[in-house]
Amino acid sequence: MTRRPVPGGRAVPGGRAVPEKRAVAGRAAVADDFQRASRDNRRRRAGKNTLAKPAAPVYANSGNGPALVPVDIGHDAYTALVEPDTAFWSLVRKERLVEVLADPAFVGEVHDHGEAFTAEMDLLRFKLVPSAVYFNPTERCNLNCTYCYLPEKTRRRGVRMSKARLFEALEILLEFFHHTSPDGVRPQVIFHGAEPMHERRAIFAAIDHFASEIVFGVQTNGTLLDHEAIEFLTSRRISLGLSLDGPLAEISDRTRHTHSGHTTHERVLGVLEALRGYEHHAVICTVTTENLAHLVGIVELFHGLEVPTCMLNPVRCTLPGGRAVRPADEDLAVAYLAALERTEELYRETGRKLVVANFANIVLAVVAPTARRLMCDISPCGAGRCFFAVDAHGNLFPCSEFIGLSGFEGGNLFAGDLEGCFGTDAFRAVTARRVETIECCQRGAIRHFCGAPCPAEAHEIHGDLAQQGAYCRFYEEQLRFALRLIADGREHAYLANGWDAATSTVFEVTHS
Ligand code: SF4
Ligand code: SF4
Repeated sequence: MTRRPVPGGRAVPGGRAVPEKRAVAGRAAVADDFQRASRDNRRRRAGKNTLAKPAAPVYANSGNGPALVPVDIGHDAYTALVEPDTAFWSLVRKERLVEVLADPAFVGEVHDHGEAFTAEMDLLRFKLVPSAVYFNPTERCNLNCTYCYLPEKTRRRGVRMSKARLFEALEILLEFFHHTSPDGVRPQVIFHGAEPMHERRAIFAAIDHFASEIVFGVQTNGTLLDHEAIEFLTSRRISLGLSLDGPLAEISDRTRHTHSGHTTHERVLGVLEALRGYEHHAVICTVTTENLAHLVGIVELFHGLEVPTCMLNPVRCTLPGGRAVRPADEDLAVAYLAALERTEELYRETGRKLVVANFANIVLAVVAPTARRLMCDISPCGAGRCFFAVDAHGNLFPCSEFIGLSGFEGGNLFAGDLEGCFGTDAFRAVTARRVETIECCQRGAIRHFCGAPCPAEAHEIHGDLAQQGAYCRFYEEQLRFALRLIADGREHAYLANGWDAATSTVFEVTHS
């Protein structure tokens, strides 16, 4: 589905696409590939709507008609019109804004689709079922990143899950998903931090044992991946997520190093070199004050290494270590958008994309709201709804971001608490956080695009889940940039090839 500005001064109200078959994804880069497994590849295009004269006119912003809010996107020619509740949007030439808002045919079309759009958003926000688990088989990590969300003492001497216990946990999870997952959809288990490769023997045994029933992924710091491990994981097409924070060791080392302060940069680069050509890997770069000035160099490095997907994740401000290196929103926006623009240049120069998955998700949130793949950008977010986290004791949390925060444990997997955890106060506190109850977001037209993340951050910064998280101004700039790209017909450069293979156009209007 495409919406293009039409030469000759015509207004271009937009529309949206929905996936033909809905699927759920998690928060980390490794979830990206998982989604494909549960989608079909059928594609259907609806015809372009024609604007018929409505029988009984409705009026924009009157109360009975749709609420269409103009949003300045910083484009020379276009302004966005957004219906906040349904996430409907359109791009309108500035000089025709009043005319479009007063066009009964256009307003009537938006109105007529309102119920369907509302149903879509309700499904996405409230009716998805869990389909993924972030599973921490150990509390230990060989690194001591300054912004880590796990206490250093735990990472040095924390518990490790035995192979028998890991298998027992996976059996319990399978039984649960048997009842909750749609037929034919395998649940996703992502082995996650601390550093899961400390338990590599148990994990590799589990990957082979449960291969036909579970889709696995591994999120790792990469330092413990040797040739044998890479061979094992790639031969089984396991999705791999690694971490690297800079183009040079002196930059990466500012935030990511061993407990004794040693560099990990060259080691991770060696792994990325070994993964060159492997399509199921991604790299997370955590964006902080320490690498903000080097984001362009980082995407150049990743692109040069033929990394297919990366995430440029602003550091989570859940814990003091993260808050200490939190970039200012305005600085973050400038550096981040420059890095995005560089990925487009690299694509145009080489024909090869480096998809920045967290930004691609924002573009998807606009062009196909229900096809978005990561779940931090919708409120309530995916935590405790689409996925949950299990720590090395078997304790259950809405998201890994809550591990270590008191009051957010929803029971224990081994104690038989899995089914009940979703109804606990711990989980409900997170899943009940929604944009309608956050003061600034209530008024915001873009609230279903930015998602007002993150509840863990909001809780730790403000002591209150019903507050804004970090980076609101940055998310706003990111969305405005996405809309500018769409106005200029550049959005495909930022989306994975084939992103729309399982989507169908449900509303597309060109107004003339
Ligand atoms: S690699 Fe991950 S778990 Fe280990 S210290 Fe760094 S952020 Fe924490
Ligand atoms: S709790 Fe935070 S990190 Fe976890 S899914 Fe929600 S927004 Fe994302």
